[in-house]
Amino acid sequence: MKELFKPIEINSLRIKNRIAMPAMHLGYCENGFVTDRLVDFYEERAKGGAGLIIVGGCAIDHHGYPSMIKIDDDKYIPGLSRLTEAVKKHGAAISAQLFQAGRYSYSFMFGVEPVAPSPVPSKLTRQTPRELTGDEVLEMIEAFGTSALRAKQAGFSAVEVIASAGYLVSQFLSPITNLRRDRFGGELENRMLFGIEVAKNIRQKVGPDYPVFFRVGGNDFMPGGNTNDEIRLFCVELEKAGVDAINVTGGWHETLVPQITMGVPRGNYVYLATRIKQMVNIPVIACNRINDPVLAESILFDGLADMVGMARGLIADPELPLKAAQGRINDIRRCVGCNQGCLDTVFTGGKVSCLVNARAGREFELQTSPPVRLKNVLVVGGGPAGLEAARVAAGRGHRVTLWEKSGSLGGQLNIASIPPGRQEFSLLVDYFAYQMKELGIQVELNKEATVENVLEFGADAVIVATGASPISPPIQGSDGGNVVQAWDVLASEVNTGGKVAIIGGGAVGCETALFLACKGTISPETMHFLALNRAETWERLVELASRGIKEVTIIEMRRSAGADMGQSTRWTVLQELHRYGVKVITGAVADEITASGVYIKKGEQRELVEADTVVMAVGSRPESSLCELLKERVKEIYMVGDAVSPRKALDAVYDGFTAGEVL
Ligand code: SF4
Repeated sequence: MKELFKPIEINSLRIKNRIAMPAMHLGYCENGFVTDRLVDFYEERAKGGAGLIIVGGCAIDHHGYPSMIKIDDDKYIPGLSRLTEAVKKHGAAISAQLFQAGRYSYSFMFGVEPVAPSPVPSKLTRQTPRELTGDEVLEMIEAFGTSALRAKQAGFSAVEVIASAGYLVSQFLSPITNLRRDRFGGELENRMLFGIEVAKNIRQKVGPDYPVFFRVGGNDFMPGGNTNDEIRLFCVELEKAGVDAINVTGGWHETLVPQITMGVPRGNYVYLATRIKQMVNIPVIACNRINDPVLAESILFDGLADMVGMARGLIADPELPLKAAQGRINDIRRCVGCNQGCLDTVFTGGKVSCLVNARAGREFELQTSPPVRLKNVLVVGGGPAGLEAARVAAGRGHRVTLWEKSGSLGGQLNIASIPPGRQEFSLLVDYFAYQMKELGIQVELNKEATVENVLEFGADAVIVATGASPISPPIQGSDGGNVVQAWDVLASEVNTGGKVAIIGGGAVGCETALFLACKGTISPETMHFLALNRAETWERLVELASRGIKEVTIIEMRRSAGADMGQSTRWTVLQELHRYGVKVITGAVADEITASGVYIKKGEQRELVEADTVVMAVGSRPESSLCELLKERVKEIYMVGDAVSPRKALDAVYDGFTAGEVL
């Protein structure tokens, strides 16, 4: 890890290593003011060894919403100073990201109408912004400058302007959203002007030595929008205008190219940064789906970028840098790219948490402490809740034994990691397995718990994490030989025919559909090989990669499929279902299953969905009977995870943490 831990100088700022935590909205502020929660969150990441922490977006004007950091008034300086001191005292640098959303503002959130270069409707907000007048454009440039100065006064080590993701600066840059006829619109040269004027205004206000970064989208990935070619030219001009570093991410929020979901290959967008690095003489930061220090090291070693951005990676494990520096790679709790606790929560107005790290955003509330008395603890069940409970309890010093009835640890995580693009869930299983060993937890696989053997074990405390089992709904014919459970399909314990009907279009149904629809398609490696050798036409390659050997139909009673999925993932899964040719029937109830398939009812209409195999994906029920039988006979007993009621892995891990902590 030599490259990762080399210091870097950006203007007058020396950063101790190459790990940057890019800005991410966390939802922790109150009326724009810094809170203890925000300070604790970032201080923990600074303690964990991050070189540079970029916070924000920090609203430069009244368009910011209450849970984001605001920097448009001096009244915010004391709180911001508290934040910068907390981070800097651990040797990390901290930058404020200056933010103006433009047409991505929601009037119902901000209470003011969104403004933009031109009145082009936004697919994200479903609103049309008002065009900024010439004077307002100049005021906006000035607002960036005064906010930058305020950041400097608050003790930030640097400022960054967000000119990516479809926010205001990128709206000026894009021919799609900038239709202006004044000097800020027209050819690329004119469209770049707003960003360049922002950079110059900031430079003029903060002085020559103060580091100024720009966050750019390496490619907007918007039809008719800027590509990497235009963005490279913009970066060259930014450098001329006095910008000290370029932080490169992917496309706009409106793009149909996935940026941040688990299915995006790790380091997928590094090439965008590399192409920019080839054009400028200032440091370039590569971002998106870099959750692994080994990958980060190779990016730097190969000269693809000068720093790496890890936002979610550091939410998942604030100590990632320290652990990497000490060579404790297996000890790192990796971000799995699920977005359950972070982006999906933020998109619905919540506060960021994390599936793999129950303490994220609750650094103060959830501190592990030594127990009053050391106990002999038995955990029944090796799924996420049981594993986390065992990890936390053992970490506090308890003697922990874990029984798992199957032959491997992981429970539902193992099933969740099987569908295409979901493999990262297995990282959490690997982490837990490593922790079991490191913490000396006695793991017994293929050990089914009964009332008798639990009592005989004689634990001081029992944590029951027995999970859930799939439901078989009372549909006529559901006991037929052609009916199987989705979990068994995913675990490859049953085979399916060429025509498959899946009853249930929630997350499990959709992912099982993708798993089956991919059968017979070419692998990414084969596609790459054939493409490089120009062995097939592009159209044929796409067909070979997306058309398998099975006909799959989803039957969902709700009005849309994937309703239980997070916002960031759902659209990508629905897009893939479409690409892979999966038929989705919504608003339909399965009425009867026969050897020919499933009879569905849509209103008064009854029709047959032909299928050789019918897959049930209609949910699960808790396996709580062991706890019920034990609760009068064991002094200290806790039930966690799906055994309480089926829940997301995010909640299961949180349950496990709290049970492990309460003992
Ligand atoms: Fe990563 Fe998921 Fe945690 Fe977000 S919630 S930081 S995506 S592991």
